[in-house]
Amino acid sequence: MTPRTHPVQVGSFTVGGPEFTVIAGPCSIESLEQFLETATFVGEHGAVMLRGGMFKLRTNPSSFQGMGRDAFDIVREVKTRTGLPFVSEVTDPRQIGDFLELVDMFQVGSRNMHNYALLKELGMVKKPILLKRGFSGLVSEWLYSAEYVVKHGNPQVILCERGIRTFETSTRNTFDLNSVAFVKRNSHFPVIADPSHATGATDLVTPMALAAAAAGADGLIVEVHPRPSEALSDGFQALTLPMFKDLMTKLERLLVALDRKPVMTASNSR
Ligand code: PEP
Ligand code: MN
Repeated sequence: MTPRTHPVQVGSFTVGGPEFTVIAGPCSIESLEQFLETATFVGEHGAVMLRGGMFKLRTNPSSFQGMGRDAFDIVREVKTRTGLPFVSEVTDPRQIGDFLELVDMFQVGSRNMHNYALLKELGMVKKPILLKRGFSGLVSEWLYSAEYVVKHGNPQVILCERGIRTFETSTRNTFDLNSVAFVKRNSHFPVIADPSHATGATDLVTPMALAAAAAGADGLIVEVHPRPSEALSDGFQALTLPMFKDLMTKLERLLVALDRKPVMTASNSR
């Protein structure tokens, strides 16, 4: 028998319930102007939660490493102005204390799926955890990582498929949508999909976002930037603001066709 997804509450929204959840924002927070402009737009067009990296785990140590603590005041201001919950990646257990008052959900990045010390610490936190799949992680290992958090006291885990490394090099990663359908069939965790990191190409994000919804994902997390060519990280996969709007229009139509509830919005959730 198919296990039923146990919904997870994030701020005033529910992930894994009947409504589809869209999380959007830039890869990295770069300035108040950039984050506010993005957040306001995505919030007005159906995103119910904001993303934005502050501490970035970059492959190249010379790449932009994120604003770090300098982003905290920006986050406070944008959260107040938009009223939307916020998710950001925690890269080190020592950041957890500072993150607690700032984030509504802790993101564990692909590179940390096997960081059991971090997962254990997050098990002691009373906020939801967005656990990305390691790019070399088996689905079984991903589910064990989720169990690490649960076993240490925190049942509020949401999984995120973000693409895996395979022999295929035409795209940044291979989007394993089998895992979305598999996890829905075999676990109680809500699962969302990240077509931005999975494809690494702006023009592939919308079709693969729709594919993820069709595969049964409970939601999406997508990177959006008002001027992708100026982005300090991952500009090559960022949707522009009009592209995000277009994605949301197509998504609404698809969800109707699938007989699923439309995208939850700030106005219809309250
Ligand atoms: C991100 O969400 O910006 C990110 C770094 O993702 P991942 O951990 O999936 O590479
Ligand atoms: Mn990114």
